[in-house]
Amino acid sequence: MPREKHLTVDVINLGVLRIVCLTCQAAETVPVIPHYRPPARCPNHSCAATWFVPKTPATRALQHFVTRLAALLEQRPEVSASVQFVIPVSV
Ligand SMILES: [Zn+2]
Repeated sequence: MPREKHLTVDVINLGVLRIVCLTCQAAETVPVIPHYRPPARCPNHSCAATWFVPKTPATRALQHFVTRLAALLEQRPEVSASVQFVIPVSV
């Protein structure tokens, strides 16, 4: 039976996010910037799967997540706390 550990990542160390196509496994990196716009389609032209349709809840959620994360990173020097993601890892 696998033991479960956790990996913690401070948001300041995230760098970029990555979107992976569930159809062809092509990937695109996402800069953590204000006014981010999620890609509508897979960047692999032979695939072109629909990713994020503008103005849908999923698209707005990703856009909001990235732009608010950028705002948090901008405000980082004013915060005396570490904001971390906790990721379960099976070992
Ligand atoms: Zn694809």
